[in-house]
Amino acid sequence: MHVLILGGTSEAGILARDLAGSGSVAVTTSLAGRTREPIAPAGALRIGGFGGTEGLATYLRDALVDVVVDATHPFAARISANAVAACAAAGVPRLALVRPPWQPQPGDDWRVVADMATAAARSAALGGRQLLAVGRNELAAFAGNTQVGYVVRTVDPLPEPPPVLLAATETARGPFALGDELALLRRHAVSAVVAKASGGDGGYAKIAAARRLGVPVVMVDRPAPPPEPRVATVSAALSWLRGLEAAI
Ligand code: NAP
Repeated sequence: MHVLILGGTSEAGILARDLAGSGSVAVTTSLAGRTREPIAPAGALRIGGFGGTEGLATYLRDALVDVVVDATHPFAARISANAVAACAAAGVPRLALVRPPWQPQPGDDWRVVADMATAAARSAALGGRQLLAVGRNELAAFAGNTQVGYVVRTVDPLPEPPPVLLAATETARGPFALGDELALLRRHAVSAVVAKASGGDGGYAKIAAARRLGVPVVMVDRPAPPPEPRVATVSAALSWLRGLEAAI
């Protein structure tokens, strides 16, 4: 069975490792190519866009893909929609692996907003120094906020000139521990955090650190999840794939 994992998340990496280790499955992970030196997953790797829905459908046929696991980030809505349409066109089953969202804990001060433009408006109203943890492709929405000094952390350095008014920039690759995030927020005297409701362990420490320091979080809500079939964990994805393997 040839499994194509649409990746870019830690769950995708774990799934590739577990499938490649099982022996009976050929696994290919696809990455968009956003980071210069991605962590190589187990199994085969391809990098770059497919060229929309038609390109992905063509790839599925040419590479003799038996099943697609869409393990992309909960905010990567376009590739997930493309996967739905391409799998339907090519007659290939598709499973979405979507990690559960974080749940607010006592002491959290979340200002939940529906989209990036609203997040930018909330951020402007809060002012001060803020950790802007929304991903480098979303920074432009905050470009007009000249009253805020943003602290931005990216895997690869930001382009010059940076897309937002920077108070500080750091290059580092997650996941980050609570101690790292407490130190980051203190080091830059951060008074608010702007984050996506990504869920997962890797990005959670900044949310826990904000809670510990009494710092508000402007939390951008998720887009609608991809349609069923959909699971929330790697182990559930493995069970689903085992069931499919037994059926074909
Ligand atoms: P997106 O807006 O949903 O997709 C934009 C285009 O990028 C897609 O149409 C596709 O190009 C290409 N693409 C996206 N994911 C791909 C993949 N895994 N393999 C091959 N092509 C892919 O995606 P995005 O939000 O920019 O995210 C890009 C990647 O970064 C995803 O793999 C995602 O898991 C990861 N990521 C995203 C976020 C986030 O906050 N959005 C956070 C962490 C990681 P074509 O139409 O040409 O096929």
